[in-house]
Amino acid sequence: MIARNSTRIFGLVFTSLGLASIIVALSNAWASGVSFLDLSTFNEFLWTNRFHIGFGIEFELIYLIIAGAVTILLGVSLLARRTERIEEVTVITDDVTATLECTVCGYRWKEIFSETQLESMGFPRNRKISRRKCPACGRFTRPKIMEVRAPRAF
Ligand SMILES: [Zn+2]
Repeated sequence: MIARNSTRIFGLVFTSLGLASIIVALSNAWASGVSFLDLSTFNEFLWTNRFHIGFGIEFELIYLIIAGAVTILLGVSLLARRTERIEEVTVITDDVTATLECTVCGYRWKEIFSETQLESMGFPRNRKISRRKCPACGRFTRPKIMEVRAPRAF
């Protein structure tokens, strides 16, 4: 959970940093009256104008664009990886195997439920489920949930 959240935060931070760098470079060009449509002038502007980040450090705007694009790619790939993981988890935790016990004869059998189904039946407060026929004695009972096996604990 923590790993997933930090991946998301890093993804968002990288994406915003990358966008910010590109916006800074573009607004520098715009402030100097360079048209983005005039590609050769724009390209020359990026290669010849320097960007000061303070502490005496400065570099050409083109590097700001390149760094920005790389950072965005990194951020987006982190965000995409996070979505993938969540889908995986959903698939695994959706179905759970419940061990049911007949209240008449005590026979136990297994049935597959989805988590939302169990929650709507009031599990884990209510451990008895809707009426169904016992496969052993054939009586209609409200079987008791003895055990639920799922990767995620209830
Ligand atoms: Zn039974």
